[in-house]
Amino acid sequence: MGFTSNLCLWITFCLHLCCFINTGKAQNAKEVILLDSKAQQTEMEWISSPPSGWEEISGLDENYTPIRTYQVCQVMEPNQNNWLRTNWIEKGDAQRIFVELKFTLRDCNSLPGVVGTCKETFNLYYQETDSEVGRNIRENQYVKIDTIAADESFTQGDLGERKMKLNTEVRIIGPLSRRGFYLAFQDVGACIALVSVKVYYKKCWSIIENLATFPDTVTGSEFSSLVEVEGMCVSDAEEEADNSPKMHCSAEGEWLVPIGKCICKAGFHQKGDACEPCGRGFYKSSSQDLQCSRCPAHSYNDREGSWRCDCEDGYYRALSDPPSVACTRPPSAPQNLVYNINQTTVSLEWSPPADTGGRNDVTYRIMCRRCSWEPEECVPCGGNVGYSPQQAGLVDTYVSVVDLLAHANYTFEVEAVNGVSDLSRTQRLFAAVSVATSQAAPSQVSEVIKERVQQRSIQLSWQEPELPNGVITEYEIKYYEKEQKDRIYSTVKSRSTSATVNNLKPSTAYVFQIRAFTAAGYGTFGPRVEVTTKEEASGTSLVMHTHTHAHTHTHRDIQTYTDIHTYTHKDRAVHQFAKELDASCIKIERVIGAGEFGEVCSGRLKLPGKRDTSVAIKTLKVGYSEKQRRDFLCEASIMGQFDHPNVVHLEGVVTRGKPVMIVIEYMENGSLDAFLRKHDGQFTVIQLVGMLRGIAAGMRYLSDMGYVHRDLAARNILVNSNLVCKVSDFGLSRVIDDDPEAVYTTTGGKIPVRWTAMEAIQYRKFTSASDVWSYGIVMWEVMSYGERPYWDMSNQDVIKAIEEGYRLPAPMDCPPGLHQLMLDCWQKERADRPKFDQIVGILDKMIRNPNTLKTPVGTCTRPISPLLDQSTPDFAAFRSVGEWLDAIKMERYRDNFTAAGYSSLESVARMSIEDVMSLGITLVGHQKKIMSSIQTMRAQMLHLHGTGIQV
Ligand code: AMP
Repeated sequence: MGFTSNLCLWITFCLHLCCFINTGKAQNAKEVILLDSKAQQTEMEWISSPPSGWEEISGLDENYTPIRTYQVCQVMEPNQNNWLRTNWIEKGDAQRIFVELKFTLRDCNSLPGVVGTCKETFNLYYQETDSEVGRNIRENQYVKIDTIAADESFTQGDLGERKMKLNTEVRIIGPLSRRGFYLAFQDVGACIALVSVKVYYKKCWSIIENLATFPDTVTGSEFSSLVEVEGMCVSDAEEEADNSPKMHCSAEGEWLVPIGKCICKAGFHQKGDACEPCGRGFYKSSSQDLQCSRCPAHSYNDREGSWRCDCEDGYYRALSDPPSVACTRPPSAPQNLVYNINQTTVSLEWSPPADTGGRNDVTYRIMCRRCSWEPEECVPCGGNVGYSPQQAGLVDTYVSVVDLLAHANYTFEVEAVNGVSDLSRTQRLFAAVSVATSQAAPSQVSEVIKERVQQRSIQLSWQEPELPNGVITEYEIKYYEKEQKDRIYSTVKSRSTSATVNNLKPSTAYVFQIRAFTAAGYGTFGPRVEVTTKEEASGTSLVMHTHTHAHTHTHRDIQTYTDIHTYTHKDRAVHQFAKELDASCIKIERVIGAGEFGEVCSGRLKLPGKRDTSVAIKTLKVGYSEKQRRDFLCEASIMGQFDHPNVVHLEGVVTRGKPVMIVIEYMENGSLDAFLRKHDGQFTVIQLVGMLRGIAAGMRYLSDMGYVHRDLAARNILVNSNLVCKVSDFGLSRVIDDDPEAVYTTTGGKIPVRWTAMEAIQYRKFTSASDVWSYGIVMWEVMSYGERPYWDMSNQDVIKAIEEGYRLPAPMDCPPGLHQLMLDCWQKERADRPKFDQIVGILDKMIRNPNTLKTPVGTCTRPISPLLDQSTPDFAAFRSVGEWLDAIKMERYRDNFTAAGYSSLESVARMSIEDVMSLGITLVGHQKKIMSSIQTMRAQMLHLHGTGIQV
């Protein structure tokens, strides 16, 4: 019995010192408790068998809270088999049950006289049943869970006193299939105090994650299993498309791996874990939007939870307008409608409406009505009338209505419309004019055919004009000799649609124009047709350029260049003038250069049904801005308007796809300046003049089209394999951005100073006449094989020198006639400069008479023109070689001249190029500059001597 009192002591001791009984800890949120012995303060009444074995004892924990415990300590007797069975535990949803035992166990060594009978373990069992069974314990119905040993038993303290250790052991049972179970503890002769028994299972507790609710979920039966759980969207939320919310409940009762989500429906926005309606005056049009937005201009709503706002009265949303844009209204009427009648064509022009209705898709449509004179009754014009560019969807503020009846009354209404015009029920607003067409003369005779071309006669035939506007009684054929300066016309009349013109000169180009006559008078002359009579049988006269391009020439007077600045929609301009190519027709082969907007490549273009051709492909580099794209394509919109053998030809553009490309005919020899430098001195003068003739012809065409190039320079001329030169480099901003030669001037803007006429530098007066000046510089570049104009003079010095009348001297070996033409191009008064048409004529004459191009080296036969006097230094004014060198900015060579004994201007004037080189002047540009000044000096001296003036 001594042991019993001992036992009581240590257990009480235990219960009072049990700082290790962790009652203060909050219940683990993931656990669902099925049994907790500590929570029970009344008797537990578990079944103990035999009754002398396990004993129920009350105690206090460290908080003096009463607890119930069971103990057994039959260590003295052998063959102990004491069972303790819990009450029936209903398992609920659980599949895996956790059993946590807290107990103390005495070590047998600390008990005297128990060797052989004392044990230090006990066994844990369970029995599954669907309901409570009787109070008898049938041992064989129990399944053993484990033998439980103590991790720690009593230990010896420093001072020899015994300290008790509380053991905690957890065992897991499952999966369970019955509704409930019993636990049983078998003691086989140990000294145990079962301080607490806790039975629980784990659960993932309901949560809201990503706006989805996940219900309470019991963990899986296996330790490693995750239970997949579908979430339910909270109210006013919906599953994101193809992304329904899911989570996984782990065996530990933790939510893991969230997938997918819910989002607040249109009209609702997220606040915490819920969706709240948008407030009044706000909307959210789609679940994809995060926030509610304030109603856009001219719209409202007075409900909460709106997905859109309604338009105010008189305002509308087009079908394609998203709910985020302001409501808009139809535009007001166009303003300032004016018209112009030209026989049976009425041109209308107007200004945009004062109010665009808040939209930027305003277009215009025309309503045409023909009215009887008396009483005024009008009917729609019908399909015989034409509209240029079109009747509706007009972007620009003008239209021509053609093919109207002569001598009739019309009214035209011009209406501005936008994307909401057709939704509006308000009255149409338009500007209107009434117009009476005049009695109209016949339209142009445009299709002229050369029937027979002889040495002295030409037979032509033509089609009746499209709009005779009456009975044609006669045709008038007007013609003149093309090269004849004063253009004396002759006329021939014909009653039919053909005529033979006689008494012409052989090998001569004639220009013909034809017009028709009716009771209303003469129509206008059709386009010019150029025909060259046949050579005389023995004739040798040379027609330099064939007329295979007669078509181009005939149209030169009627076509004009359209300034694409006038287009609000530059993309439309591109497609009006440039063909959209399919990218699959283009094969890029290699990179040949760098342009302002990206690489320039060469490659091949194969259009369906056509032979493949070599092309250059300009690409727009990736990451471009919208403006860069526009500027890039602008060049194509301009180039696409031109069709001339001396203007680079546009094949088309690729705008629907990437990269954006401009496809141009391939010019094998690249840009002219580099080409000439590479072939310095290798061409005959005739070949050089041939190139110049080509450039002039291209420029004549461009100026006839009304296009001012502004950056004509050898670097902007391309050369093909046949040495044909073509004008290139078009674009609105190219002078500003692209040309490395362009510099800022005091008048603002960047200008390629060395190539630009005075008035263009001084006050930005760019005209075809300033292009002529640039052409003169190109002539100089060509004749000097790509020398830099004004050599290494600074831009400032160039401007000063030009203003003071200085002009570039003739390049070495340049025929005087060509230098004279350059000087003419550099006339101060732009009206005094030749026109491109004249330049082409002069060059053609030179080519026909190659003798005029001969320059015996050193004997310049150039006449001294007044122009030359103004624009070159007057050698009579120089008193010394030093002064002269100063004037031509070559003073650095003064010592070279002195050392070699050239002390007078006369001795200098006799120098040859070899003499100049022997002075040690090695720079070719300087040699040329000095030599050309010497040539001019020599010519002036000749002239002065000739007029008796002493130098
Ligand atoms: P650009 O952007 O027009 O100044 O072109 C840049 C360079 O690409 C030029 O200097 C030429 O060397 C080359 N290039 C441009 N267009 C063509 C073309 N049509 N054929 C051959 N080379 C070209």
